[in-house]
Amino acid sequence: MLRVSKGNRFVFCYHDVSAADAPHHSWRYSTTPARFKEHIDLFQQLFAIVPLEAIANDRDLPTGRNYAALTFDDGFHSVLTDVLPLLKASRLPFTVFLNGMAVEHGRSWITDLVLAANDPVFVKGMLAATALAPADAADPIGAIMARGRFTAAFADRPVLAARTKIFLDRDDVRQLHAEGVTIGDHGYAHAVLSRCEAAVLDAEVSTGRDLIRDITGAAPRHYALAFGKHEHYDARAVEAIRQRGYTHVYNTNPNRVRAHEVGGAELIPRIGFTGDSTDQVLFYVNRTLLRKYAL
Ligand SMILES: [Zn+2]
Repeated sequence: MLRVSKGNRFVFCYHDVSAADAPHHSWRYSTTPARFKEHIDLFQQLFAIVPLEAIANDRDLPTGRNYAALTFDDGFHSVLTDVLPLLKASRLPFTVFLNGMAVEHGRSWITDLVLAANDPVFVKGMLAATALAPADAADPIGAIMARGRFTAAFADRPVLAARTKIFLDRDDVRQLHAEGVTIGDHGYAHAVLSRCEAAVLDAEVSTGRDLIRDITGAAPRHYALAFGKHEHYDARAVEAIRQRGYTHVYNTNPNRVRAHEVGGAELIPRIGFTGDSTDQVLFYVNRTLLRKYAL
């Protein structure tokens, strides 16, 4: 049950939807198909699930209902194989936020590090590319997010050998677009924008836009900040994004969308879920409705 039901708006954020034994499955970003189905069933009871555009722009959604939009970050191939069939069967709209590098090269440094956690040469190369110390090998993803620097060397970092397909490619994105899925940008290489030197920041917020425009015929207007917490972006980064034509920018402040955030002038919050139980999902949603709870 929702604590209140008066025209509240939410944007939910997922990443990968894959079986627990899938080669790339990780607690960091994956939801099992069974758990995802539970979430969707719950959402259909609680919300009218509408396009992201309706949440972000439409000030005139009828009151008396609550509204939610579904988004999927990083462009996992499972969005095509597992998410689309389920949501299409229920005619539920959704949005994908892509990393252009994953689309073009089938890779992301985060999944690379998840998959290569036991490959010391690869980990060492990643740490060097983000100006970290060998001691950070114990938790390279955490260290890079907390202290990494994204310099030009980041683009030249070591890469893993070819492996099974994890990310959407150009044809997949074209297919999703043809199915009516909204295509947004999530940064070319999923760098921490607040840690990017100028040239890398420019590439992060431009290259993916150009790629999406090339695939879909239209420049994307929605940009989801990689990682999306305060420490992962700054005013310089948000300004660079808006300068490139994005009208709506999303962070991962786990809150409902409030009236002053509709329209795009401010960052729009999203609540992220991975393997959470439906009780946990309800808790995260309901706490945003408490009068004195300001996240
Ligand atoms: Zn992401």
